[in-house]
This record gives sequence, C-alpha cells and structure tokens, in this order.
Amino acid sequence: AACALQDADVLVPFGWLLPTADKYRRGVVGVVAGSKTYPGAAVLAVGGALRAGAGMVRFAGPGRVADAVRAAWPEAVVTDGLPSEAGRVQAWVVGPGLGTDKKARRRLAEVLDSDVPVLVDADGLTLLAEAGGSERSAPTLLTPHAGELGRLLQVGPAAVEAARLTHARRAAARYGATVLLKGSTTVVVPPDGPVRVNPTGTPRLATAGSGDVLAGLAGTLLAAGREPVDAAATAAYLHGLAARLAAEPDGAEADLVAPGPVTATDIVAALP
Ligand code: AMP
Ligand code: MG
Repeated sequence: AACALQDADVLVPFGWLLPTADKYRRGVVGVVAGSKTYPGAAVLAVGGALRAGAGMVRFAGPGRVADAVRAAWPEAVVTDGLPSEAGRVQAWVVGPGLGTDKKARRRLAEVLDSDVPVLVDADGLTLLAEAGGSERSAPTLLTPHAGELGRLLQVGPAAVEAARLTHARRAAARYGATVLLKGSTTVVVPPDGPVRVNPTGTPRLATAGSGDVLAGLAGTLLAAGREPVDAAATAAYLHGLAARLAAEPDGAEADLVAPGPVTATDIVAALP
C-alpha cells in the first residue's frame, strides 16, 4: 500500500511551537558533512537543520570546513574534530559532501556506532555500500537518489529508475533502515508498513545542494523524536513546499510557470 501525503500529515506540533520548549526538546542535531572540495554541503545541511527549527546544531568536521560553517552559521556549535568529540546529540546527519577517504570512513563509523537515530546521505551512502551495511540497532534513515540506491544494491541507476519502489523496498530490507528515495517523485519506505509518496516535489529542487538541505531538515525532525518514516516524509513534503515558496513568495502554488529558478540557499531561507 502507498499513500500520498497531505498538509494534515505534517501539521503535528513542531518543538519550536511548544510554549514550554527548550533547546533539547526541540532537538540537538549533529552534522558530519563537507570536505575540502565540498564545504558548501556542510553549510547547507547545517542550514537545513537550523531553519527546520533545531534547538541546537552541533557540527564536527575538519578545519577549513568547520571555518566555513562558523562563518555561515554563528549559531552552530562547531568542533574542529571527530564526531565523538562533538558532544551529545539526539540524531546525526552524516554524508553530504563528506568524501570517501579514510577519514570520512572513520567519521561515518563513529556516527553509526552511536545509539541515536542516524540519517545517512550522499558519500555516507557510498561508504555504507562499500561496507555492506552496519550493525546498528538504533533507527537508521537512508536518503539516496537513484545512483546512490543503485550502489547500495549493486545495480545500475537505470534499473532503479525502472522499478523505484521495488528497489527502495529491497534496500530497506537489506539495510534494516527506512529509505527515502529521491527523484521526480520521492518515496519513503520503512522496513515494514506502508510507503509514503510525496506530492510536493518540483523540478526546482533539481539543483546542486538541495539534497544537502533535505538531509539537515530531516535530521532535525529525527532529533525532535519523530519516527524515521514520519521524519523523512515530512521533510520531503516541506522541502518541496519551500522550493515552491522560494520561487513564489506569495504562495506555495508555484510550479513550472512561476518565475525564476531557486538555489539550495534559497530553499534554506524559505523553510521557516
Ligand atoms: P540530490 O540528488 O541529493 O542532489 O537531491 C536532489 C533533490 O531534488 C532531492 O530532494 C530530489 O527528490 C529532488 N528532485 C530532483 N529532481 C527532481 C524533479 N524532477 N522533481 C522533483 N524533485 C526533484
Ligand atoms: Mg545529494
């Protein structure tokens, strides 16, 4: 069974709306992302998490990436070191722009070893595919596009595109994780239970960095205590709406005929 989300599905209370909220109830998100080549991925993932309403975002990454995050987001609590040195978080986001070298592998391993929910994206998925999985018992959310899902299952992207749900289900079963498969129609598949289909997608999202924003956004929902399937589906829904609003600030109806393209940074800015 598959069901398309509606506004009502995402209108459950956000931590930042609770009168008695504190930053821990709103959620502390850890972000492990970026590399010398891709510092922007870290900035966008941290931005997605902060603008989704995280109580705090902790970032762990190497010098130059840490500097870029500090410069872009003074709110972020930045550690120029390993995830294990970043302090306690309620969920981790790992992978955007991370690279696939030995240091990246170490960072991913530390995060996967934790007992809190983990979202794995981008290079983190490539490394996870190489490792053949993980031994985690805490919830795991994977957010591949077709190419990344193909690597997870050792099949090509064309095979994934030809049978998206089937392959997403296969990956959810093989990795014991919830899978958010990105693309023109994003689907969210839990290890068991019904599939969610996102209706808010727009080709405006097809721009570099947009997936990094989604990772941060979903990470905040995980840190606030939502189940992976709910965090993923809600994040995809809001991500699409934010891209539409960024294009057409007067309403979320913007589609192909609306003005101007948007960038990933615009999506971050439109999230609130
Ligand atoms: P990534 O592949 O990590 O760069 O992420 C791209 C984001 O854009 C994902 O959230 C995709 O679901 C979304 N996206 C890409 N192409 C389209 C499209 N044609 N229609 C709707 N969403 C798209
Ligand atoms: Mg990506």
